[in-house]
Amino acid sequence: MKKVACVGILVADVIVEPVANYPEKGVLEIVNSITMHNGGNAMTAAINLRKLGVESSMVGMVGNDMFGIFLKNKLQEACVDIKGLKTSTNAQTSASVLMLDEKGERSFFHCRGTNAVFCEKDIDYSVIEECDAVFVTGTFLMDKFDGKETMVFLQKCKQMGKTTFLDVCWDATGRWGELLDMSMPYIDYLMPSIDEAVCIAQKDTPEEIADVFVSKGAKNVIIKLGSKGSYLRKEGEKKGRIFPPYYVENPVDTTGAGDSFCSGFLAAFARELSPEDCTVFGNATGSHCVTAKGATTGIKTYEETLEFINSRKEK
Ligand code: ATP
Repeated sequence: MKKVACVGILVADVIVEPVANYPEKGVLEIVNSITMHNGGNAMTAAINLRKLGVESSMVGMVGNDMFGIFLKNKLQEACVDIKGLKTSTNAQTSASVLMLDEKGERSFFHCRGTNAVFCEKDIDYSVIEECDAVFVTGTFLMDKFDGKETMVFLQKCKQMGKTTFLDVCWDATGRWGELLDMSMPYIDYLMPSIDEAVCIAQKDTPEEIADVFVSKGAKNVIIKLGSKGSYLRKEGEKKGRIFPPYYVENPVDTTGAGDSFCSGFLAAFARELSPEDCTVFGNATGSHCVTAKGATTGIKTYEETLEFINSRKEK
């Protein structure tokens, strides 16, 4: 089975709930719970992949602090290889404080910390060498690594014979294609969600978006369509296809659905399934994610997910 390197962001999420009222300055407000969780696209993918029975490596950076220790422990508990995880002595671990109100609506404080200083020189290429697939995720939230450094990294991965995957986050700076276009020729599977894809390609439909991505050099295009499933345009083909979602009656929490889709796709890729079957597997994993609170909680094993897919086929 193939091994996957997850390269990108890790975040310590501190969740405060429920926050009914924001206290006045200098005033204390009692809440029911304050808990710490692991987050960040690359970390979520690395853990999900282990749940799906695939060997994964985490390549990124934490700070020399309690948040960093917490994230490292979580990765080790999940049996993710952390040889490629660097510890900064200058920057703090990226962290968020999420305030959830009674309806589950979120407000955030975020400190970019180590994700903003992580750079291509921090990457241990011996870790990449041990992997078959490289998944860059968290693009647009890595100030130093985004743009030219991502391109250089992906180019080296291609020279090393690796299969490359890339997913993005929302680009609050609005640069989108200006940062990503240069990397396209080195991306085997580009897998943004539709909202992000529209901003990168400046087009509206999956077909038009895929035309743009392919013209810039991306080989295969996957576009996550939320509760509408996902779109796949395979290398060399002029048209793509929409794969329907697995219906979830009462979605609980869509956080991490995108990361879960990508983990599912990669878990099937690691077992050398076709791009079509990988997309179906991604849809199933994404649908499992939205059935539970948290980005990794709802993920089932590979065998259970396969059983779920087969049971839906029989209906
Ligand atoms: P996020 O940024 O919150 O992680 P995303 O926008 O990148 O998510 P989505 O497109 O929302 O990703 O979801 C990824 C995949 O998860 C979809 O392609 C679909 O297969 C599955 N999915 C998401 N929402 C639902 C839903 N309500 N019902 C069934 N499947 C869903």
